[in-house]
Amino acid sequence: RERAIASSVDSVFESGCRDIKDEIGKPREKAAMVVLARNSELDGVLSSMKSLERHFNQWFNYPWVFLNDEEFTEEFKVEVGKIASGKTEFGIIPERKWHMPFEKDDPVTFAEAVEEQGDRGIMYGSMPAYHRMCRFYSGYFFEHELVQKYDWYWRVEPDVDFYCDITYDPFREMKLHNKKYGFTIMIKELINTVPNLFRYTLSFARENEMEFTDSWPLFAKSFGRVKGTNEKDYKDIKDMKQFWSRLQQRVPILDAVDWSTDSSGDDLSEYGFRSLVSAGNSASTDRSKIDMFNNMEYSLCHFWSNFEISRTDLFLSPEYKKYFDFLEKSGGFYMERWGDAPIHSLATGLFLSQSEMHYFRDIGYRHSTLEHCPLNSPFQRSYRESKNYTHGYTQKEERYWRKYDAPVANSRVGTGCRCRC
Ligand code: GDP
Ligand code: MN
Repeated sequence: RERAIASSVDSVFESGCRDIKDEIGKPREKAAMVVLARNSELDGVLSSMKSLERHFNQWFNYPWVFLNDEEFTEEFKVEVGKIASGKTEFGIIPERKWHMPFEKDDPVTFAEAVEEQGDRGIMYGSMPAYHRMCRFYSGYFFEHELVQKYDWYWRVEPDVDFYCDITYDPFREMKLHNKKYGFTIMIKELINTVPNLFRYTLSFARENEMEFTDSWPLFAKSFGRVKGTNEKDYKDIKDMKQFWSRLQQRVPILDAVDWSTDSSGDDLSEYGFRSLVSAGNSASTDRSKIDMFNNMEYSLCHFWSNFEISRTDLFLSPEYKKYFDFLEKSGGFYMERWGDAPIHSLATGLFLSQSEMHYFRDIGYRHSTLEHCPLNSPFQRSYRESKNYTHGYTQKEERYWRKYDAPVANSRVGTGCRCRC
C-alpha cells in the first residue's frame, strides 16, 4: 500500500529508455542550462558540457547560458560553442548583484567577519567570493535577463558527470506533472555554516503569517517538549500559538521523517524525501506527536543545488523576494556562510507542496565526492541480480530498497554507474 501511494505521488517519469526519434519531435519548453563559472574553470565546464550533451542534450538541443562576474574570454566562448548543440549566451553579473552592499559600506567589518569564519574552520568561510556566489545563487541568478526569459533552468556546474542517458525532456515532463523543483541528491548541511538561518526563516514565516505546506517536515524536525517548560517560558507565545496552530492544521505529520539517524555525508533522498512522501500520503493524522511546546530545529536537510531543474518563477515570485530580502537584511550572507542550497530548500519547504517537488532518481549524477546512481539502470539491475545487489550499498540503503521496492540512491563514488540506452 505504502508503495503504491508513494509512487503515485512522485514516481520517475520514465523507468526505461524512450525511443529518441519520438521524443525529439515533441515541442520544447522555454528552458536553458545555466552555468555560473569563472574563465579559469573552462576545462571543468567543457567536461560537464560534454557529459550532459552526450547523455541528453545532443537530442534536445537546449540553449546554454553562461554567467560570470567578469567578462568571459574569447577562448571560453569559442570552446563552449564547440560542445554546445544548442545556442550559447554569455552574461555578465551586475556589480551590485555580485558584491554585497555591506562590503562597500563597511569593508573592514566585512573582511573581518569573513576571515574569522576561516579561523573557526568553517568550510569556504574565509573566501569572500564563495559568500558572494552563495548570495548570488540565493537572490539574483534568476533575475538575470538571460535566465528570466526562460520558464525553466537546469543548473550545471564545472566538473560534474552525468551517467545515464536521459531520453525524455525533463522540463516537459515536469510541466506535464505540475512539478516546480527537481533534485537528484539531498544531504545534510554543515551546521556551522548556517547556525541562524532556520531561526530567521521561522521568524520570517511568523511575521508573514505563513501557512506551511506539507513539505515542511523535510526541513523541520521537532526536538520534543523540554521538561518543565510552560507557556510563560515563551516570550512571544501569542505568535507561537498562532504559528503552531497553523502548522498543526497544515502539517499533521511533523515527525514523518525520522531525522534521528545521523546520515551526514549520505544521500538522504530516499530516507528523507521518500519517507515524507509515503508518510504524508498514508494520511497519518497522529497529531499527538505535535504539541504546542514542541520546538523545531532545522533538520539540516537540503537539496544539493549544484544540480537543479526548476521553474524560474519559483524564485521570481514576490514571496521569495521578500524571503531573500529578509535574509539579506539579517547579514547572514557574510556573518555566516549561508549556502544557496539550504536557502533554496527552505524556500521549497515554505512555498511548494511535496507534490510539486520531483526526485530525479533516474538521473545519474556526480559532483565532487558524492554521486547518485539509479539502481534501476540497466547496468545496475543486472549487477544487482548477479551479485544479490548488496555490493556497494549500505544496509540502510538495502533496507529501503526492500521496503519500497524502489531504485535506491548510492552516495559513494567509485562503485560504478553505467546506464546507457
Ligand atoms: P562547491 O560546489 O560548493 O564546492 O562550489 P564551487 O566552487 O563549485 O562553486 C559553485 C559554482 O559557482 C560553480 O559553478 C563555480 O564555477 C561558481 N563560482 C564560484 N565562485 C565563483 C566566482 O568567484 N566567480 C564566478 N564567475 N563563478 C564562481
Ligand atoms: Mn561545485
